[in-house]
Amino acid sequence: MIKPTNMGKTRMNHSRNSRAASSLKVCLGLAAAVFGLIAVPAVNAVQLSGGSTRIKVVCTTTMIADVARIIAGGDAEIVGIMRPGEDPHIYEVRPRDVQMLAQADLILSNGLHLEATLSHAMENNAKAGAKIVRLAETPKITPLESEATRGAPDPHCWFNVENFRIYAEGVRDALAAADPAHAKEYKDRAANYLGELGLLHAWVKQQIETIPREQRVMVTSHDAFQYFGRTYFIDVFAVIGISTEQQPRPGDIARLESIVRERGVKALFVETSVSQTLNDIVKKVADVSGAKIGGTLYSDSLGEPGTEAGTYIGMIRHNTKIIVDALK
Ligand SMILES: [Zn+2]
Repeated sequence: MIKPTNMGKTRMNHSRNSRAASSLKVCLGLAAAVFGLIAVPAVNAVQLSGGSTRIKVVCTTTMIADVARIIAGGDAEIVGIMRPGEDPHIYEVRPRDVQMLAQADLILSNGLHLEATLSHAMENNAKAGAKIVRLAETPKITPLESEATRGAPDPHCWFNVENFRIYAEGVRDALAAADPAHAKEYKDRAANYLGELGLLHAWVKQQIETIPREQRVMVTSHDAFQYFGRTYFIDVFAVIGISTEQQPRPGDIARLESIVRERGVKALFVETSVSQTLNDIVKKVADVSGAKIGGTLYSDSLGEPGTEAGTYIGMIRHNTKIIVDALK
């Protein structure tokens, strides 16, 4: 629990009149706002309530929070740490995240170093007996290795929808193990959702097949789409490698320009959860090579709740439509 004692004390020393008490109240409110204890947006509005008997599940990325909410139904309390548009590679841990992690019975994360900073906070603050599950770290998923980062595993496994089915099975099994009383409900909801993901996988395949093979070349801001490319047969290039922690080098721009010219790439794509600098480089490459910007893709984060890309299924559908429209 964050105690804004210091802020209150400083203010009290400077205010010795009868309004001191109300000033302190204002300060406490201010500190709560600064530390993000109040005014949390709707997607994260489910606070970990003290009186609930439901298990408390904290999820790192927006994709994982989505699948966890679907499979949990109302039987477990699901809280997402990251907000739409936030970049997991360079996420800065907030005091309220530490508080939530410390109360969780189960922590669901991606793993493969996607949550670079947050993963330390998970390990250091999880309470005794709480389980940390890294959904991408399973023998059922073979991670791609990134050439740019000398063989480091590529964490963006969710862009193969069949991998996300494995995430969903991992969520189902973790929920059932943490809360056996609702195991049947978790299993039933997961079965439905796995069916939807199966249909989604087939739909993406069929959509991408409508792009002539020689036009299936994607250029994006960071290298998040290799699983998508391998699974649905599109060649993928990016300004920088698998982590947005890397800085683009002058050579990267020239390399992309020549790929765009040689392959006759029609359109390049920017992303929602990366820096403006990276997206500007994509725009520059498009400008100098005569290609266009095909649209904005959701890579490491879902869109706002209530929008098409506010769910995992919607995000994949949105990206696929943008890609097909731009490259066909
Ligand atoms: Zn990424």
